[in-house]
Amino acid sequence: MAKAKTANNPLMDAIVGLCKRRGFIFQSSEIYGGYNGFFDFGPLGVELKKNIKDAWWRDMVHRRDDIEGLDSSIIMSPKIWVASGHVGGFSDPMVDCKASKMRYRADQLFYSPVVVDGNTIGYVSTLEDGDMEATAQAAAEKMKRKQGVQGELAPVALKEYTEADPSEYELIPSPATGEPGSLTAPRDFNLMFETKVGALSDSTATAYLRPETAQGIFSNYKNIVDTGRVKIPFGIAQIGKAFRNEITPRNFIFRSREFEQMEMEYFISPEADWKACHREWIDWCKNWLVSIGIPEEMLGEDVHPQEKLSHYSRGTTDITFQFPFGEQELWGVACRGDFDLTQHQEHSGKSMEIFDETTKSKYIPHVVEPALGVDRVLLAVLTAAYCEDEIDGEKRSLMKFHPRVAPYKVAVLPLLKNKPELVERARSLYDRLQRRYNVFWDASGAIGRRYRRMDEIGTPWCVTVDFDTVEKDGTVTLRDRDTTEQKRISEDELLAFLDEQL
Ligand code: ATP
Repeated sequence: MAKAKTANNPLMDAIVGLCKRRGFIFQSSEIYGGYNGFFDFGPLGVELKKNIKDAWWRDMVHRRDDIEGLDSSIIMSPKIWVASGHVGGFSDPMVDCKASKMRYRADQLFYSPVVVDGNTIGYVSTLEDGDMEATAQAAAEKMKRKQGVQGELAPVALKEYTEADPSEYELIPSPATGEPGSLTAPRDFNLMFETKVGALSDSTATAYLRPETAQGIFSNYKNIVDTGRVKIPFGIAQIGKAFRNEITPRNFIFRSREFEQMEMEYFISPEADWKACHREWIDWCKNWLVSIGIPEEMLGEDVHPQEKLSHYSRGTTDITFQFPFGEQELWGVACRGDFDLTQHQEHSGKSMEIFDETTKSKYIPHVVEPALGVDRVLLAVLTAAYCEDEIDGEKRSLMKFHPRVAPYKVAVLPLLKNKPELVERARSLYDRLQRRYNVFWDASGAIGRRYRRMDEIGTPWCVTVDFDTVEKDGTVTLRDRDTTEQKRISEDELLAFLDEQL
């Protein structure tokens, strides 16, 4: 697990701890000591993840007339990855520490000279995170003290390791050992996982696990145009696994080696106002995030400067989120122009042109792509939902999940488990609710403890069946997770209430 950055981050520790304790997320292969960059989703995690994916699919595909769905294979012809540029250029700059055998992404390793009265007395280094300026400044002060140098210490000026002059490599300390002299020059490392397909094991059998779902869309674009009734502008959406051999998987599920993506390619005319279309999609994405419970004030926008754009992009804006370890990319919205379809037309020899009924012209469309990581948005949902408060002098941690994504929508609790009339009545309500929603049944333990359990896994409502239910008016107690308010309502009112809320 990406322990380095979570170790001194109480919020992150609390989220990771709750995820393990309550069965949301486990480290993969834990009984064998774990496997870095891979995670397993337990009974609650799989529900939360499925609800997020279902909400996206519902809004992106079902509720739009202009978008179609697709599910393409994970392993595709290696020619696709040559055409897309991934074989040649899908790499990150990597730097090795020869002493510790640790590996870092050179663009996430920062360094600064330590300057006292204009003289450089050494170098400090730090890994990218929200506090890196402060960490580096503290290290610089320590160096000055240790060397017994007098004079004024200049503020550190952090630069990416990729920008270091070769003469500086030897002088920059390794983040693993704190000592200089063991870091290598940065070199490109291709992030695609290779595998072999078929009985032969020579180079012709080499294939790749897809590093993005987008190419499955581009390579099926022609099938969909030829078989569907799509008209420009239209989109193709896909949810599926992607794999990247990340040099430094970290921050829990934020950056892992196996993850899921929800991508949509929106095809527009080359004459269309792509900037306006880009803006519309950025707004759509932000509204969707708010609809699953992410507060708007935790979102931001990061416009990529022209010189840092990916090879395929003419404009990219990342929607960012305030993760516990700092503001980071959540959802990339890229204008890919006609790069991908043109490449596939050239490499496959098949025409990627579409006939536009409105303008009576033929062209290769341009593309706007909102690309979101399921695991990353799940971490954002967990971060936004996590809170602690005090109820009747007792501390509680709760997950304020939006009802749309909450693993369980409602819990049914008979007040006492040894009173058959209560249990029977509660069970019949449970069966009735279960036909519509994922409902939790909990008959054991003090009622307060059972409420706390539901708070911690983010169940928005608890329904308690007590003696008044069976002996008097048939009403049940409905308890709200966030306010802990309780009110009595009839079973029919309960069904109507849940129907409206969900
Ligand atoms: P980064 O710069 O963080 O490596 P990227 O810009 O390469 O990411 P894209 O290729 O645009 O990412 O991928 C689209 C989305 O997929 C990202 O916005 C993110 O939500 C998700 N994603 C990318 N890489 C990972 C990963 N290693 N683990 C989890 N999610 C990821």
